[in-house]
Amino acid sequence: MLTRDEEFLLNSARAAAANAYCPYSKFAVGAACESEIGIVSGCNIENASYGLTVCAERVALFNARSRGASRITRLAVSCITVRPDAAINQRMCCGACRQVMVELMQPNAIVIIDGAGVFTLRDLLPAPFWLQSSEINGE
Ligand SMILES: [Zn+2]
Repeated sequence: MLTRDEEFLLNSARAAAANAYCPYSKFAVGAACESEIGIVSGCNIENASYGLTVCAERVALFNARSRGASRITRLAVSCITVRPDAAINQRMCCGACRQVMVELMQPNAIVIIDGAGVFTLRDLLPAPFWLQSSEINGE
């Protein structure tokens, strides 16, 4: 059961998915992150050179950071084109996004994944790569 704020953030992610550029996978994903500057969203953006594709989570986080956000406390993500009976794995964030979350979000941040549940960053990536644990995210 999501709180009212979590539901609002998840709905922002769902709305962002409508802007997804996914002509190859048809896998439309939206993400929205909450910080001291408010809610900032993003969608997945694919490229004919597949390796250049960027996930919705990273677009949202980079968008927020580029607008000045330094305390990102929650992120919601939704794939609006996933089949209703799809396995949980098809709804989860990829490893690259988890690593970026660890760097740009607060250590106790919450990740809400549509149809999968509510997770902490530690749930998603318990042993991240890290160079300077105390300085990178402003702690
Ligand atoms: Zn990803």
